[in-house]
Amino acid sequence: MKENECIACHGEGMQADDEGWQYECSVCEGLGVVPTNREHGTRIMSVDENNRLLD
Ligand SMILES: [Zn+2]
Repeated sequence: MKENECIACHGEGMQADDEGWQYECSVCEGLGVVPTNREHGTRIMSVDENNRLLD
């Protein structure tokens, strides 16, 4: 269970437009969670790098 689940993509990290094309969620940048505690952001940054490698 994710604490800060992104409400825009429901934690999936992807959004789809009307034609069914999927794209990286612009709210959470594909993380599926919204980083609300950036001052402790070391772990969140590493997750972000991993997600970008998959892109
Ligand atoms: Zn999102």
